[in-house]
Amino acid sequence: MLRESLSAQDPLVAQILQDERGRQQTQIELIASENFVSPAVMEAVGSVLTNKYAEGYPGKRYYGGCHVVDEVEQLAIDRARELFGVGFVNVQPHSGVSANIAAYLTLVQPGDTVLAMSLAHGGHLTHGSPVNFSGLLYNIVSYGVCLEKETIDMDEVERIAQKTRPKMIIAGASAYPRIIDFERFAAIARSVDAYLMVDIAHIAGLIAGGSHPSPVPYADLVTSTTHKTLRGPRGGFLMTNNEEIAVRIDKAIFPGSQGGPLQHVIAGKAVAFGEALRPEFKAYTAQIVKNMQAMGEAMEEGGLRLVSGGTDNHLALVDLTAADVTGKEAENILDAAGLTVNKNSIPNETRSPFVTSGIRVGSAAMTTRGFKEDEARLIGSLIARVIFEHDDQIALTKVRNAVTDLLAAHPLYPDL
Ligand SMILES: *Cc1c(COP(=O)(O)O)cnc(C)c1O
Repeated sequence: MLRESLSAQDPLVAQILQDERGRQQTQIELIASENFVSPAVMEAVGSVLTNKYAEGYPGKRYYGGCHVVDEVEQLAIDRARELFGVGFVNVQPHSGVSANIAAYLTLVQPGDTVLAMSLAHGGHLTHGSPVNFSGLLYNIVSYGVCLEKETIDMDEVERIAQKTRPKMIIAGASAYPRIIDFERFAAIARSVDAYLMVDIAHIAGLIAGGSHPSPVPYADLVTSTTHKTLRGPRGGFLMTNNEEIAVRIDKAIFPGSQGGPLQHVIAGKAVAFGEALRPEFKAYTAQIVKNMQAMGEAMEEGGLRLVSGGTDNHLALVDLTAADVTGKEAENILDAAGLTVNKNSIPNETRSPFVTSGIRVGSAAMTTRGFKEDEARLIGSLIARVIFEHDDQIALTKVRNAVTDLLAAHPLYPDL
C-alpha cells in the first residue's frame, strides 16, 4: 500500500483525474471564481502534510510532532501579513464559507442584525441567504445595486444602516464588476456603531497586486478565499488589525467551527502567498483587468450589454436580454463551443436563479494561461457570436476551431 502509485493502485480514479486535466486543457476557462494554480502549489497540496493532525496554532498545539508544520503555518501567516500589510492573519479556514462562519462567530450573536448585499444583486450565500446559516441564525437586512446605474448606491446603504442599526455591515460580492468603496462603507459602519466585515473572496488577488483598493485600513475584519484571483489552493483566511478581534478570530476557527487544520493546504497557501509577493504578480493582476476590459468591449461591439456599462475588475456581468437565450442556454451553448462560463442573475432579473437572463465572465484563469488583450478581444467577440448565432452550425464550428487554435498557442501545464 505504501509503494503503489495512483495509476497502479486505482486506475479508475487516475483516469478521472486525467479526464479532468484534458477538460481544463481543451476549454477556455472564463468562470470568474476559478484559476489555475502553479505546479508548486499542487505539489504542496499533494504532500505528506495531509497526514498530520495539528489542532491549535503554531507553538500551541493539542498534538505532538507539530514542530515541522508549525514552520509552514507560520510562514503562510507571515507572508500573508506582508502581502496585505496587516497585523494578524489566520490561515486555517478550509474555505471562504468557513472563514465567513468564523467572522460571524467573532463579531455578532445569533439574532443580531446584519446588513449585507443581496444575493440577487451579487452578494454571496453567506451574506444572508435564507437557505444559508447566515440567514437562518441572524436578522439579515440587504442592500443592492441601484437599478439605473447598476452600481452600489452608498447613500442608500447609509439610509438602510441608519434605519435598521445593524451590528455588522458586510461589504464584498461574488458578481459585482465595479470598484467597492471600502472607506465609505467604514464611515457608514462607524456612524451606526456597527462592525465592518469585508469579504474579498473574489478580488483578493487584485488587492494583493494593487489592482483594487484594499479594505485592510478600514475594516474591522477581512475574510477571503485563496483560490480565486489570488491563485492559491482551495481555502480561506481571515485578517484584522485589531488585537482583541484577532484573539476572538482564533477561537472562532478552533475550537469554534473547525477541528484539525489542513496543513497540506496551508503549505499550498504559503507557496501562493510567496508567488503573490513577487513583482510578476502585480503585472499579472494588471493584465487580468486589461483582459477583462478588452473582452467586455468586444462583447459590447458584438451586441451584448454589460451590467453597469463595463468593468473595473476581473469579471463582467452580461445581460442577454437582447439575444433570444437564457443564461442557462448560453452556459450550455458556450460550453459546447469550448468557452466555460456560468449563468448569473442580473439586476431586475425576471427569471429564476436556475435559468437567469445573464452570464458571468471572468478573466483570471485565461490570464494565467497567458492570454493578453488581443486574444481577450477575440474571445469576447466569439462569445457574442455564439450567443447571437447559436442556430448556425457553421458559425459554431468556426468558433470551436478558433478556440482550439487559441488553446494550442497557450498550453496548460506544458511541463507536467
Ligand atoms: C466564493 C465566495 C465565498 C465562498 O468561498 P468557498 O471557498 O466556495 O466556500 C465567500 N464569499 C464570497 C464573496 C465568494 O465569492
